[in-house]
Amino acid sequence: MTKWTNFHTHSYFCDGHGTLEEFVQAAISKNFAVLGFSSHSPVPYKSKNVLKFENVIEYLRKVQILKEKHSNEIEIYTGMEIDFFANYSKISQFSDYLDYSIGSVHQLGILPDGDFLNFDYSKTDFSRYTEEIFNGDIKNMVSQYYLQIILMLCAEKKPDIIGHLDLIKKFNRNDQFFSEKETWYKDLVLDVLHLIAEKSCVIEVNTRPMIRGLLDSFYPSKWILEESFRLNIPVTLNCDAHIPTELGGFYPQAAEMLLEIGYKEILILYKNTWQFVELSQNGLKI
Ligand SMILES: [Zn+2]
Ligand SMILES: [Zn+2]
Repeated sequence: MTKWTNFHTHSYFCDGHGTLEEFVQAAISKNFAVLGFSSHSPVPYKSKNVLKFENVIEYLRKVQILKEKHSNEIEIYTGMEIDFFANYSKISQFSDYLDYSIGSVHQLGILPDGDFLNFDYSKTDFSRYTEEIFNGDIKNMVSQYYLQIILMLCAEKKPDIIGHLDLIKKFNRNDQFFSEKETWYKDLVLDVLHLIAEKSCVIEVNTRPMIRGLLDSFYPSKWILEESFRLNIPVTLNCDAHIPTELGGFYPQAAEMLLEIGYKEILILYKNTWQFVELSQNGLKI
């Protein structure tokens, strides 16, 4: 029997659309064995895209209710996509209350006017970031991005899953900002991969850029996954769903790519344990 899983799911609690129940129903109808919710964690500044501090308990409680309600149909886990940026958000802040955490970097600095902004929000914001924080020096900006990932990996409590490892390429279709083939970029990524291998973290293959038609690749790029395979870094498969219909988007294509690279198994949280399961193009052999 093959089934799918997803640990990267947003909802109306942050910047997604749809109730938790609607995501659960969609997951059941799409033959999912596991659904993990991962609202964007609260941040210490005003943002309409993240879970609010005052809603954390309601979020945890609602996931728990669904977990019990649907226990005969699907496994449900409580997670958060924890926004890491040095000196502000720490993975450990919420992790005691979660089944798992995704660690992601969306933030690289404060704009000169004091505003906080996610560099991945829009291409305009990305360009604003490049100009106003990094004086047009894209190489410095990309380096800072991977430095934040390194800091996250070296933090006292590291995330279970590294979210969209090369998110910095989000608006880089046709190499508009930099080339992944350049040595400086490859070296940066390889340094991060060695650290991920050393720290025994899992990276996700995130199908969202294909679902949204933003890029012709997943996060991370295929060459990064080939290097990850060589370094024995385990992967999991996620779709970063923001609406229920996005669940499982481009999974067969991602599975095909992983099998081609050599990944025969992926790591998932199942029966409350992280375990490897066999991958096929039609799903996981659970
Ligand atoms: Zn994210
Ligand atoms: Zn996400």
